[in-house]
Amino acid sequence: MIIKPQDLKYFCVEEFVYEDLYTRLGDYSLSLVNWRIILTVMQLREFFGLPIYLNTWKWEGKHQYRGLRPMHIYEDPRTGTKFDRRSCHLFGLALDFSIKGMPSDEVRKALIKHRYLFPHIHRMEHDTNGWTHIDCKGEFKPEIVMFNAI
Ligand SMILES: [Zn+2]
Repeated sequence: MIIKPQDLKYFCVEEFVYEDLYTRLGDYSLSLVNWRIILTVMQLREFFGLPIYLNTWKWEGKHQYRGLRPMHIYEDPRTGTKFDRRSCHLFGLALDFSIKGMPSDEVRKALIKHRYLFPHIHRMEHDTNGWTHIDCKGEFKPEIVMFNAI
């Protein structure tokens, strides 16, 4: 399956990919992001009924590596965030997102509580503050696998 740019709801292609890639490939770059993670964030947007923030570079914001990431960038100069060199962001399997007005621990609790509504969320990162990492690495398990980054 693939989700095409015209089938996105609430989001645009630029929110899933970094600026340089979008400049080179345009809307085609969405095909490098796994459909399961795209579908999941649209489901989350409907479930919470609140704006969800991914990449913001399109509007001069500082975030451009919240979805797909390039192999050769190990740190985000705009945010100071260090990246795991084997992150599943490199394979288009992960998203970092913020929900308007919701602390990250509340988001994680809600996703754990409603686990079966979001079967493509296979893993989440512990203790992030200001964003929530979800990914669809591996396979479905009855409980979301929690991990520590780096
Ligand atoms: Zn992440």
